[in-house]
Amino acid sequence: MHIAQILRKPGPRISFEFFPPRTPEASEQLFTSIQELMPLRPAYVSVTYGAGGSTRSLTHDLVVRIQQETSLSVVSHLTCVGHTRAQMQEILSRYHASGIMNVLALRGDPPRQSEGPLITEFAHASDLLRFIKEQQPEMGIGVAGFPEGHPETPNRLKEMENLKGKVDAGADYICTQMFFDNRDFFDFRERCELARIRVPIIAGIMPITSRAGMERMAELALGIRYPARLLKAIERCENDEQVARVGIHWATEQVLDLMDQDVRDIHFYTLNRSRPTLAIHRALGLADAALLKDQI
Ligand code: FAD
Repeated sequence: MHIAQILRKPGPRISFEFFPPRTPEASEQLFTSIQELMPLRPAYVSVTYGAGGSTRSLTHDLVVRIQQETSLSVVSHLTCVGHTRAQMQEILSRYHASGIMNVLALRGDPPRQSEGPLITEFAHASDLLRFIKEQQPEMGIGVAGFPEGHPETPNRLKEMENLKGKVDAGADYICTQMFFDNRDFFDFRERCELARIRVPIIAGIMPITSRAGMERMAELALGIRYPARLLKAIERCENDEQVARVGIHWATEQVLDLMDQDVRDIHFYTLNRSRPTLAIHRALGLADAALLKDQI
């Protein structure tokens, strides 16, 4: 089913993001996490794509395995930076042949130490979107949004223009970068409204589980802003177990507040672990995401 069709139902809904494991052990661990998360009945799960296509086959194989072995709807992330049109055509045909009907169309980040000149046949995610529409018009397509602003955008007005460009090119929905201050999301939602962006916006939430993870995320998500109140609570922690408790508490408060403000869709960055997401659901008093409906 297309994600757009799922998002048309009343909600609220949750979804999960995974990344492709690189070893058989990590793969088994991921499938254990997926089994543990299944009772929460996510609307869909998504699988990331390594920069420049570094996990191209791993992403494809994981998406296909999830599709074959579970009843979950799956979204495959797809980045275009460093890919030629011919390569992209081949990737899309492979997805089509495997029955994958949903992708998240992304630009990706150029590799830092690129070997040789960088291929720039696709400059922006909107170019990829148009290409997918041309090649596989029946594919469901989501795009990324940045409540705190994308670090490369010269100004926030231009950013909304660029986001609107992606929606006008045919994006069905927007999934946001993680954020730790809900005011950033509410402001982003209002700015989308002003820009006449009318597709569903899925709020990205990542429970912090360790100090090292926090630093890695700050690096990967370029410019993520951790509020001082959160940083102070983390500073008081003596070990990562306490950090994880703070992270779960913070994310739970974020989800409650989002639901209070009529946010229908929440996407958890799971980092392939089930424990923090399960703990948040327990803290919300929910064993099953279908019960979320009773919260509003
Ligand atoms: P774009 O929409 O192309 O935007 C990139 C920059 O260009 C922005 O500053 C934008 O304002 C600007 N821009 C856009 N269109 C135009 C235009 N027409 N003219 C001028 N400027 C323009 N990365 C991965 O490598 N793998 C993943 O699996 C992955 N998953 C992600 C999932 C989510 C939900 C999010 C939020 C991010 C993800 N990323 C992933 C990171 C993402 O690839 C990077 O943040 C990247 O820098 C931006 O991607 P984009 O699709 O938003 O690019």
